[in-house]
Amino acid sequence: MIRLVYVSTCAPGLSIDDVYAIMKVSQPWNVQHELSGMLCWSGEFFLQCLEGDRSEVSKIFAKIATDRRHHRVELLIAAPTNVRWFGEWGMGFSQLMASHRLDLPRGRGESFNPYLLEAVDLERTFEQLATFAQRLAID
Ligand code: FAD
Repeated sequence: MIRLVYVSTCAPGLSIDDVYAIMKVSQPWNVQHELSGMLCWSGEFFLQCLEGDRSEVSKIFAKIATDRRHHRVELLIAAPTNVRWFGEWGMGFSQLMASHRLDLPRGRGESFNPYLLEAVDLERTFEQLATFAQRLAID
């Protein structure tokens, strides 16, 4: 099993409805392929963690990386692991609002900039993001 975390910049004009459309496709796919993780959307950036079988993570990441709904996709980590951070969800969703404050040594500043995150900070970041997480009711 591996864990992959990347950051990206949303396409201009991307709306919450576009993000819901992504989640609607992602949740069943990820459950079916035993992928867990979390997608965080701040309005400007995405931060996503994907965990699962190496070939499954690689396949979905290849699609995600070429998706026109975001750009400047940069890997933060891709490493073997035995433990899932997000065992209970196919794909959690966390919308980071301006009012949400993250307690992080890096990557916060005036506004959240996940490109500044370092690998050692990621578990703590996702723990905090999980507290803002929603389970989306997707028809
Ligand atoms: P298609 O649905 O055929 O799409 C091909 C391309 O068309 C896409 O790459 C995209 O550029 C564009 N497109 C598709 N739908 C729309 C739309 N509604 N509006 C605008 N453009 C569109 N998929 C997962 O299964 N699991 C995930 O965890 C996951 N995470 C994602 C995270 C982010 C930040 C983004 C942007 C996408 C994510 N996706 C995820 C979606 C993934 O990129 C693919 O769209 C999806 O896997 C379907 O693949 P497909 O080959 O059938 O693509």
